[in-house]
Amino acid sequence: ESVVNRIAAGEVIQRPVSAIKELVENSLDAHSTSINVVIKDGGLKLIQVSDDGHGIRYEDLPILCERHTTSKLSAFEDLQCIKTMGFRGEALASMTYVGHVTVTTITKGQLHGYRVSYRDGVMEHEPKACAAVKGTQIMVENLFYNMAARRKTLQNSSDDYSKIVDVLSRFAIHHMNVGFSCRKHGATRADVHTVSTSSRLDAIRSVYGVSVARNLIKIEVSDSDPSSIFEMNGFISNASYAAKKITLVLFINDRLVEWPGLKRAIEIVYAATLPKASKPFIYMSIVLPHENVDVNMHPTKREVSVLNQEVIVEKIQSVIESRLRSSNE
Ligand code: ADP
Ligand code: MG
Repeated sequence: ESVVNRIAAGEVIQRPVSAIKELVENSLDAHSTSINVVIKDGGLKLIQVSDDGHGIRYEDLPILCERHTTSKLSAFEDLQCIKTMGFRGEALASMTYVGHVTVTTITKGQLHGYRVSYRDGVMEHEPKACAAVKGTQIMVENLFYNMAARRKTLQNSSDDYSKIVDVLSRFAIHHMNVGFSCRKHGATRADVHTVSTSSRLDAIRSVYGVSVARNLIKIEVSDSDPSSIFEMNGFISNASYAAKKITLVLFINDRLVEWPGLKRAIEIVYAATLPKASKPFIYMSIVLPHENVDVNMHPTKREVSVLNQEVIVEKIQSVIESRLRSSNE
């Protein structure tokens, strides 16, 4: 049974960056205003996420890492309108099958916190009282210690830390009211460092730099056609922005997702309208009725499927095209 669990867990947590995404989403679900990440050895030795959210109650600790334990989904109908990012109670459990998980947490009004470690879905010992200020810290150590082949593949690829920085950068510009930091263990300099702001451009500037931020055009769409109702707002790069590859930072209903079809469609518009700046930077937040988005398609919840996607893609294309044309006149 533990082998089966490990294989399933290895599918949910495919690499260090998948653990980061799940942990940060949990911190966001807990209404944190500050999320700090420390990484050792590309995440294989240590992934540590500390937040100042509402914490985890003592009585929830024993079952926290059992599969399908979630505090966020009470009935099947809820699947129709998933508002929090976590909903399957699978992420933390999975991490305990492929790594060593230690949770330190304190809830509001408590004098001290608790620390407890988990393996294979269960607590290794009773929670121990400890000092804690606010929120939750989750440490995942020795990720894939029991999956030799996976560990080896990942050790040979040096780009996991940059994937983590990339994901945190994306979260940081979308959740601009939350301060994020990410650093390598022992490093004094953070590779992502933002403070809460109410200006999207400020957030983009502090993550991606002035050279990106000064070349952006604001876009907004609001479509009330019942067959393709959606709202979109964001920033797209102008004719002066030059990069080697396209960056599409995309959130649908506040969820960080990939939508390869949309990405290609945007590239096509740029190639036709601004061939010299055809690798744009795009930040886009799309809001759709919950029943029109299926986030349950893939275990890692990365790719979504959207109802009437062709219509939505075409509308986004035409808005981008007209904004680019009018800004380039
Ligand atoms: P899900 O997010 O799908 O509910 P997870 O396995 O990611 O499942 O987390 C299990 C539960 O642990 C969550 O439902 C939540 O109650 C609790 N939890 C995890 N991380 C945090 C956190 N940083 N702050 C508060 N509660 C947390
Ligand atoms: Mg979760």
